[in-house]
Amino acid sequence: MNDYVIAEPTRSTLPVKGSKSVFPVRRVYCIGRNYAEHAREMGHDPDRDPPFFFQKNADNIITNGRFKYPVMTEDVHHEVEMIVGLKSGGKSISVADANYHIFGYGIGFDMTRRDLQQQAKNMGRPWEVGKAFEQSAPCGELIPIEETGIIEAGAIKLTVNGESRQDSDLSAMIWSVPEMISILSEYFELASGDVIMSGTPAGVNSVKPGDTMTAFIEGLGELTVFVD
Ligand code: MN
Repeated sequence: MNDYVIAEPTRSTLPVKGSKSVFPVRRVYCIGRNYAEHAREMGHDPDRDPPFFFQKNADNIITNGRFKYPVMTEDVHHEVEMIVGLKSGGKSISVADANYHIFGYGIGFDMTRRDLQQQAKNMGRPWEVGKAFEQSAPCGELIPIEETGIIEAGAIKLTVNGESRQDSDLSAMIWSVPEMISILSEYFELASGDVIMSGTPAGVNSVKPGDTMTAFIEGLGELTVFVD
């Protein structure tokens, strides 16, 4: 037990289905443009873009179902994504070994201050102000892989106030979850507690205070988040 010189920061956690224990979050990795139709809607050619990654902060995760509309923006977008929690990690993990490191899967939102992200893109600047802000990662519970099995396909959907916004299938990912883990592990040393947000399908759009976002992923259930 360390004796800290200041108040100890709170560790971010995710609830786990069927358990009183929680999943401690170390890092949050996100993949960009992982569904071809979404890459196209953002003005890119999915066939020639290799995968790229960015990060959110662990403490950007919220699990109370209420997303407070952020400051410094007039255009906040929803991005529904399957999240993957790792129980272990390492360097240079092969695609064949990648699924071994998965603790479980869940539903998350990569909320994005799209106006700030676009400014950053235009000016060749980093994405943090658009992606890694307070409460930018509303998430649900992780479901252990022993219960779900390996997830490679299934519907992924998002409605806002009951109206369909995003509707695709996990099998439409350009880079599969094992490929993502393998490629990430070449750039970073992965470890237990890392969370990967696996990208969003087409249909991203704005939300406003008062909206109710409901995400559905086949095999993982539903996650409803209210925009405050
Ligand atoms: Mn995203």
